[in-house]
Amino acid sequence: MGFLDKLKAGLAKTRESLFGKVARLVAGKKTIDHEMLDRLEEILISSDVGVPTTLEILDRITMRIQEEGFESSDRLMDMLKQEIASMLHVNGEEGLSQHKFEAKPHVVMVVGVNGVGKTTTIGKLAHLYRCEGYRVIIGAADTFRAAANEQLEIWAGRAGVEIIRQAQGADPASVAFDTVSAAAARSADVVMIDTAGRLHTKVNLMEELKKIKRVLDKRLPGAPHDVLLVLDAGTGQNGLQQARQFHEAVGVTGIVITKLDGTAKGGIVLAASRELNIPVRYIGVGEGIDDLQPFRRRDFVHALFNNPNGL
Ligand code: GDP
Ligand code: GDP
Ligand code: MG
Repeated sequence: MGFLDKLKAGLAKTRESLFGKVARLVAGKKTIDHEMLDRLEEILISSDVGVPTTLEILDRITMRIQEEGFESSDRLMDMLKQEIASMLHVNGEEGLSQHKFEAKPHVVMVVGVNGVGKTTTIGKLAHLYRCEGYRVIIGAADTFRAAANEQLEIWAGRAGVEIIRQAQGADPASVAFDTVSAAAARSADVVMIDTAGRLHTKVNLMEELKKIKRVLDKRLPGAPHDVLLVLDAGTGQNGLQQARQFHEAVGVTGIVITKLDGTAKGGIVLAASRELNIPVRYIGVGEGIDDLQPFRRRDFVHALFNNPNGL
């Protein structure tokens, strides 16, 4: 399957929910009326676009109807598509098809709560970078969970990259330190640090992540160059709250939204991109090693609106 087909397949549930509902909304109606706009508001909110972003989209569509005199209901889908695209555009940064790293090694710390897909994302990213010719080393700094090392090791094997680990319970910062040292010794291009995500001791987790960050900077001034926050698309608005907490603790530079294939609530991509003011960098559309894509606004909007049945 090609890149776009995979994206379309991954967004199928959201597309059916959002696009399908809007298509049914306008079907058989000639003009856009208040009731239609109210219903559109409900549809967007139920797709997890988020209240502030939904209201902004509605305001802009209402304004365009007044200013440009669009009344015909078949214009609604187009306007929605355009407004969604422009919302995604605001925080800029398009996903790159070929990565360029200024630092060597370029150090990436991956954070997020348990189960969102950090380890899986690291495996997929390692594969992606390696396919671009970069030498990658992964650090297993989730020393909290019993099976974490083994799981990361399996991913490192699949991606064909090296992994640095210590015993369970070891100091995560020490693993991070060792990983950068190993990267320097082997002239690696990219370092990725996996971290723990336990929620029940949130304060300790944030302190642990801050310490990892501090120690990385001590070992290699300027590191980490990226802090990627992983969010599960299915967790909805809750994910935005998580994002704010992580951002406050360690300064998130990019967001990865996983499991878009498993939810109809892909509107979270919009909410995250609009409300957090942190670029969405990658999206996960499946469990396989090829199922992570750099986020590109055009492709995303295209996949969200272009119905294979030609609706
Ligand atoms: P972590 O606790 O944050 O490290 O999460 P894991 O990487 O262990 O992933 C938790 C579960 O989510 C695993 O079963 C993964 O296969 C699954 N997962 C991760 N990303 C995706 C995705 O994009 N799509 C789907 N369907 N599953 C995913
Ligand atoms: P402090 O613990 O805040 O006083 O900061 P330190 O600079 O002493 O180091 C913090 C952590 O970084 C240590 O607990 C280690 O995990 C890690 N660290 C610092 N230096 C080294 C080193 O030379 N080797 C290894 N493996 N880890 C180190
Ligand atoms: Mg993990």
